[in-house]
Parts: sequence; structure tokens; C-alpha cells
Amino acid sequence: MKPKLLFVLGTRPEIIKLWPVIVEAQKSLGEGSVRVCYTGQHKEMALPFLERFSLPVHFDLRIMRSRQTLNQVLELMISGMAPILRKESFDWVVVQGDTSSAFAGALAASMEKVKVAHVEAGLRTFDRENPFPEELNRQLIGRVANLHLCPTSVNRDHLLKEGVSEADIEVTGNPIVDALKMVKAEFLGDVDVERTFSQLDFSKKLVLVTGHRRENFGEGFRDMCMAIRDLAERRKDAIFVYPVHLNPQVQEPVKNILGDLPNHVFLLDPVEYFDFIALLQRASVVLTDSGGVQEEAPTFGVPVVVMRKVTERVESLQQGSAVLVGTDREKIVSAVEKFLDEPKEISNLANPYGDGLASKRILEAMLKR
Ligand code: UDP
Repeated sequence: MKPKLLFVLGTRPEIIKLWPVIVEAQKSLGEGSVRVCYTGQHKEMALPFLERFSLPVHFDLRIMRSRQTLNQVLELMISGMAPILRKESFDWVVVQGDTSSAFAGALAASMEKVKVAHVEAGLRTFDRENPFPEELNRQLIGRVANLHLCPTSVNRDHLLKEGVSEADIEVTGNPIVDALKMVKAEFLGDVDVERTFSQLDFSKKLVLVTGHRRENFGEGFRDMCMAIRDLAERRKDAIFVYPVHLNPQVQEPVKNILGDLPNHVFLLDPVEYFDFIALLQRASVVLTDSGGVQEEAPTFGVPVVVMRKVTERVESLQQGSAVLVGTDREKIVSAVEKFLDEPKEISNLANPYGDGLASKRILEAMLKR
């Protein structure tokens, strides 16, 4: 009998990273054995991704209400998933990463005695406040998962030290690299970046910016924006392109501090995935606090300035293709200028997060158990 899988996802990065795994599962098990539960965690930003990747949604939990606390989000997700898990018998629930959707999916499945496969397992900063609540979520998922699918051996070693049995761990690579491979092979050719972003002067160096982490809100976020303002004033040879996350705590400082530099700093709405990747491919530097972007940039040999106190993606720091600067205004400015002025030869380095075959390994790991 073919196993039946339930994929739980709710945010943009989960959809991007589970997309190749779902496609692989549909190919190998048939569409009838693969079900998708969308929690609704990031509605406006996630739905276009589900559509763009032609992913089916079999269960839509619609949990978002205005001004919810993290506990209310978890409560609604768990109570939404429990009847689905009781009604249909699944062999595996697959969760990805460190979001509330992933934690709620893992916990709800465990309580219904359905096995949990955790994609992107073993990432750690060992600091519960950074990133928050992601570090807590992934540590908690690590306690309940039955199968831990680690991007790298660094991640596997974290789990072994926490007492996870070696038999329950597989090093697979991160499926985000599979997603990039699919985008490059099938979709990137159709993106006309100069036409889509006709307001941008592509003869200048492109600095691509993303920033939205909760732990940076407030002072950290203002400092990040001030650093971008300083850079824009110093570097007339560059343009700064920032697709701004829809969270009001991000929108407000970004628009207040950077909104009056229209010829240098381009504040965009969040851009769709293939366009974002086309911009990334053209970038000289990426300035970000995102996890996924740290994993994507090495595929295109683009250096990354990481605006976080700590990062769980240490592999690119070790490789020299990324530097960690926190939200310190001066450090951000000098790190970006260094990469602009002394381009590092990193395009020949392999992406340390995967080789594009993670989805196959993830599926095989589930099927052989
Ligand atoms: N991304 C996108 N459009 C944008 C900004 C980012 O498609 O305007 C993609 C990016 O390529 C990466 C993912 O969204 O794969 C990162 O999502 P996010 O920063 O929300 O989450 P994190 O990676 O920090 O968990």
C-alpha cells in the first residue's frame, strides 16, 4: 500500500521549500496519496505562491484574525488540524522549518499518533530569543518528530548532541536548492526582469534588501533603515531594491525612513518568487535578515550581509560568502561597501545548503521507514 502524506504549510518560505517535495511525492505516490493543509498563517503573501506553483489545497484552516497572539494562532491551528487527522488516516505529516504552522502540525500529528517528518531539521542558534519564536519552534519540533531531514551535517550534529537517534536522521540537503533548480530550468527564461522592473537602472550595481524579522522590530529596524539611507547617499553607483514585507511593523519604519529617496531606494510590494530570483541573480550584494535568502544567494554566487545577531545558517559564513553584522548601522554600511568595492570570487563555490536532490532523498527516507 502506498503511504498517505499530509503536508502542512502556511508561510511563503514553507511553500517554496515544500513545493519540490510535494511535486516529487505526487510523481512517486500519485496525487491521491498527497494532501496539503494550508493554515492561512501568511494569507496575502502565501496564496499567490500556492497558485504560482499550482499546488492543491485540500484543507484550508483560515486561522488568521486581526491582532492575534502566537498562542491564539497555535490554538486555532491545532484545533483545526485535529479533526482532519482523526478523519483521514495519514502515514506521515510533513512539516518544514520553524514556523507556528510547522510546530502546530507536528504537535497535532504527534497527539493523534501520526508520524512526523521534519524538513529542514537541526538548525539552531541556541538562543531562544533569536530568532523568536523560530528557535523555540524548531527545538520543540525536534522533540516530537519521528524523522529529521537535515540540510547539512552541521544540522545533524546538533540533533545527535540533543540525543536524537542516528537512525531517525537523514542528511538530505535543503529543498530550496531543488526549488531554485526547477525555477532555473522551467521558469526563469520567461522572466523579463528589465521589463517587469522598468523603473530600475540595471546599469548600476544592484543591492537587494529584505528585512522583516520580529526580533529586529523597533530600534534594530530603524538602525537597519538608517544604514540603507547612509548607503544610498554614499553610493551613487548603486540602486537599493527593497520588496517590503506587508507587516505594518515593517512597512512603517521603512516608508518613514526610506520613502523620500525614490531615485536610489526602490521600495516595492513583495515580489513574486520568479521575479525575486531574477533580481537576486543580478544582485551585487544581498542585505537581509531572511533565512531562505541566505540559502538561495550562494546558488548565484551573490555575497550576503546578514542583519541578525546570530544565524543558524553558519555554512555560508564558514565558506566566506556571507558576513554577520547584526543591526549595527556602521557595520552594515561597511560590509556592503566592502562587497561592492572588492567583489569576492565566490561564484565558483558550491551552494553549501544542497545539491538540488533533497526532495528525492526526503521521499526515499520516508518510504524506507
Ligand atoms: N521572497 C520572495 N519575494 C520577496 C521576498 C522574498 O519570493 O519579495 C522569497 C525569497 O526568495 C525566499 C523567501 O521568500 O525564498 C524568504 O521568505 P521570508 O524572508 O519571508 O522567510 P524566511 O526565509 O526568513 O523564513
